[in-house]
Amino acid sequence: MATTTAVPGWLHAPADPNALAEQVWPAGAHRDDDGAVVIGGLALTELAERFGTPLYVVDEADARSRARRILAAFEAAAASVGTSVAVYYAGKAFLSAEIVRWVSSEGLAVDVCSGGELAVALAAGADPARLGFHGNNKSLAEIERAVEVGVGAIILDSEIEIERVARAAEQAGRIQRVRLRVNSGVHASTHEFLATAHEDQKFGVSLERAVELGARIRSHASLDFLGLHCHIGSQIFDSAGFAESAERLLAAHAELARVAPVPELNLGGGFGIAYTSVDDPTPIERISLGIAEAVARACRAHGVPVPKLAFEPGRSIIGPAGVTLYTVGTVKPVPVEGGWRHYVSVDGGMSDNARTALYGADYTVRLAGRVSDEPPALVRVAGKHCESGDIVVDADYLPHDVAPGDLVAVAATGAYCWSLANNYNHVPRPPVVAVRDGVARVIVHGERIDDLLARDAGIHPQHPASNPSGGTTA
Ligand SMILES: *Cc1c(COP(=O)(O)O)cnc(C)c1O
Repeated sequence: MATTTAVPGWLHAPADPNALAEQVWPAGAHRDDDGAVVIGGLALTELAERFGTPLYVVDEADARSRARRILAAFEAAAASVGTSVAVYYAGKAFLSAEIVRWVSSEGLAVDVCSGGELAVALAAGADPARLGFHGNNKSLAEIERAVEVGVGAIILDSEIEIERVARAAEQAGRIQRVRLRVNSGVHASTHEFLATAHEDQKFGVSLERAVELGARIRSHASLDFLGLHCHIGSQIFDSAGFAESAERLLAAHAELARVAPVPELNLGGGFGIAYTSVDDPTPIERISLGIAEAVARACRAHGVPVPKLAFEPGRSIIGPAGVTLYTVGTVKPVPVEGGWRHYVSVDGGMSDNARTALYGADYTVRLAGRVSDEPPALVRVAGKHCESGDIVVDADYLPHDVAPGDLVAVAATGAYCWSLANNYNHVPRPPVVAVRDGVARVIVHGERIDDLLARDAGIHPQHPASNPSGGTTA
């Protein structure tokens, strides 16, 4: 086989470019007799016909079963060390009213990190007491709103915020439960973690101030200190980084626990998923057990009881449940070292999936409407935006006869695609359709160009959604 720098080292030409690698597609995804990919009991060809492309498709049963499995894994792990656990769905991965209802009905709490996300969760009927409110720069209005509706925990991110939340709670005549976000110095990425004394990033307070600031929180009668919080990164494949971070946090936790009980320890989210056939995250049952055992060990060493645990998975619940469907517009072979790369341009791009441009993320693409016996060709799936970095799938293989009009599906786009979607080049954001047992329904409406024009004050001096005084109805 020709070796070429045009192909990333991890990528190998598949024996069958029609095959759907099990770990990257929603559970049960398969091809029907016509070769069309079926998800949630519906052929993607039918969905494209009904809803158009680009289209986000979310498999409801798959998302729910991942939520259930992750909750069960953490419950079993917590029970094995004699404690309990709360699992928060990290809404920033993908938040809509339906998703809030799915995860809530599966027993998860929900994390939000802005007034907008809070509004979605509340509108969906989430129990405010089961919401966590994050953010390194919550506005006063957001803090007051969170306190007023009775959010279960506000995660304090700075010294300044301790005072702000204390004052807001005092003025509202409430006692607000809070966690203190600590920067453990552990930063994990997919295959390794880095442990330093300090981490140069915006979130949390440094570990050596955790005890002092915990005491400060306790000095406010309007605050109820639940414990420390830490989130070490994303797309993490094993438990080592969490264990290291937990051990570091436990020293501060234990010191605080010697003064008064510290009921909880929240270790955040970041559990990785497979985006390509070579990604192989450790099963969540093993990760959760590894973390729980590390926490229990550290508690024994410090002579403190094992606190209630909390985790905040986002991507690992909704990521693999989603796919994005596109129609191919053009195919352009470009000579590269050792052969050809086929630029397959689709009708979406960095406006519906910014992760490739933003993080250099890898994805998997397959023909969604048919199979082909043609040999695999190296492809790069590009979008339609005026920007050469507008790439959806950097490198994968499709059958050599991929052609204009073909439907293609990109796997594992459920997390951080819709939530990062934008209107670059005035491209409307696509709808989100949930599929389950052969039934499809829109859970987020798509935008039309008219929706975009409606905001242009040179076309519509009054925003259609604004009140007569010109202020927006926030
Ligand atoms: C982003 C984030 C999460 C979720 O991360 P995933 O990688 O989606 O699991 C959880 N907690 C905090 C504080 C976050 O910022």
